[in-house]
Amino acid sequence: MTGGSTDNSPRPNETAHEQTNVWKAARAELAGLPDGNMNIAWEAVDRHTHSGQGDAVALIWLGKNGERREIRYGELARLSDQFANALERLGIGKGERVCALTGRIPELFVTALGTLKAGAVFCPLFSAFGPEPIKVRLAKSQARVLVTTATLYERKVRSLREDLPDLRQVLLTDVTEAGPGTGSFHDLLAAESDRRALPKTRPDDMALLHFTSGTTGTPKGAIHVHEAVIAHRLTGRLALDLRPGDIYWCTADPGWVTGVSYGIIAPLTNGVTLVVDEAEFDARRWYRILAQERVNIWYTAPTAIRMLMKIGSEAARGHDLSALRFMASVGEPLNPEGVLWGQTVFGQPFHDTWWQTETGAIMIANHGAHPVRPGSMGRPLPGIEAAIVRRRSDGPLEPLGPDEIGELVLRVGWPSLFRGYLNDAARYQACFADGWYLSGDLATQDTDGYFWFLGRSDDVIKTSGHLIGPFEVESALLEHPAVAEVGMIGKPDPFAGDIIKVFVALKSGYTASDALRKELLGFARTRLGPAVAPRELEFVADLPKTRSGKIMRRLLRARELGLPLGDLSTLEGQQSPDND
Ligand code: ATP
Ligand code: MG
Repeated sequence: MTGGSTDNSPRPNETAHEQTNVWKAARAELAGLPDGNMNIAWEAVDRHTHSGQGDAVALIWLGKNGERREIRYGELARLSDQFANALERLGIGKGERVCALTGRIPELFVTALGTLKAGAVFCPLFSAFGPEPIKVRLAKSQARVLVTTATLYERKVRSLREDLPDLRQVLLTDVTEAGPGTGSFHDLLAAESDRRALPKTRPDDMALLHFTSGTTGTPKGAIHVHEAVIAHRLTGRLALDLRPGDIYWCTADPGWVTGVSYGIIAPLTNGVTLVVDEAEFDARRWYRILAQERVNIWYTAPTAIRMLMKIGSEAARGHDLSALRFMASVGEPLNPEGVLWGQTVFGQPFHDTWWQTETGAIMIANHGAHPVRPGSMGRPLPGIEAAIVRRRSDGPLEPLGPDEIGELVLRVGWPSLFRGYLNDAARYQACFADGWYLSGDLATQDTDGYFWFLGRSDDVIKTSGHLIGPFEVESALLEHPAVAEVGMIGKPDPFAGDIIKVFVALKSGYTASDALRKELLGFARTRLGPAVAPRELEFVADLPKTRSGKIMRRLLRARELGLPLGDLSTLEGQQSPDND
């Protein structure tokens, strides 16, 4: 397979030449730095202050105790300059890692941007992790500096210090005095100038280190470079419709790639005002934020949408949501039910977007003038060529035709493609073949160019000769009014290969019973047909999820089959005594 311009390639959306032009134009739109340098933070913040936009609000921070603080682009530029200066004074060199372990607080944004300006590498850690996952990530990334809070430090980091010889400095955001082995983030900043020479980073210098969600196994550290900002900015505009002056809320935590690519970089580079909510999910609070902050664009996730659906649409009543112009979702397949529910409650659909930690930015989305197709991930963005292929052990990838199930692959060449897995060159190499990046997700493409997600290659099963992905089975069951969440697994069967088992969490007001089990199995059978219908159904209170909100089907399967449970570092609700 040689690419989009060949005859046998499945309906390329653009030629390679057109794609190159998209990225060339996007690169030219950035102000850039002298000598061909490029820096994510400079493009996100200083470009605006240099063009007289320093007074525009960059961030509206909503504290969990009711505080509200606005931070302007100018202030963010100065604070991040101070932090960059402080890193330099601490002797942090180019490419060295600075980790953040905090909740969603303004200091997190200053840390991210200041680190990038200093030419160091920003690596966010999710604040609800327990000590073990934190230790593994700090050690793997060879973190030199950690920014955290006094409480998180005491509970989760202090006892690890002697195992982390590379960690030189721990900066606490909420103390005024340095303690043993720690420094005060704010004191350090106060001692620094808020001016700084232009950053000297190259477009292909390492900028971000993101650990994947760990849905399929041990999280991998994906490396991204400064020129990824070209993709963050363009995809923010094309897939999320970000325009200068918009009020935008990304509900993802910056501990994960979405919270950085689309919770910091894409919105700031597009000159929008970010809403940052420190508190955890709470349906009523969320509707209040959407209404009071007059949010125009909202980027959230299927799990959150399902939780809102579970609580019921009455919770939205009485809130003026008329400012909302665009709603989108990422992280997991968005079931058609969710799209349609958006239409009912908000008068507009959620737009599904597909991408991965490795792709760095949105690749496929329901976007632009093309109508949303509920249940479809949408179409590749300009500059992206996607295809469905079959891998062969000997020979090139085999392109597949419309509606044929295969692996989703992307032609290499967009700026935010990851440049390596930390300390794992072989695994990185294995992600590429014939000039394509192999996503590991199975999907189909229809004759109109829309892509339909089937499941991760690990989650798709073969039963009585059919390839079945969790998405279609789970989506069918979600149409039943009693069902809040579903997870599907394949269970080995001597006759069928695998049979389908589903785990179902019910909406409030419904009680598990044999009668309901039969009803749900019958319901699924009517919708899916006997070959694809689940044979077994078990009621559960909750489904196991990663901390980024993805259903961990591998864990359902391992528990069911009595297999080793594997890496649980990102499992939600793991180390509750350490959680805040
Ligand atoms: P790990 O690689 O450690 O197992 P992960 O793949 O869940 O974790 P991420 O990079 O955060 O880590 O998630 C990317 C994956 O999430 C995709 O490969 C895909 O399976 C799923 N995903 C993301 N968005 C969508 C979407 N819109 N529809 C379907 N699946 C999606
Ligand atoms: Mg993955």
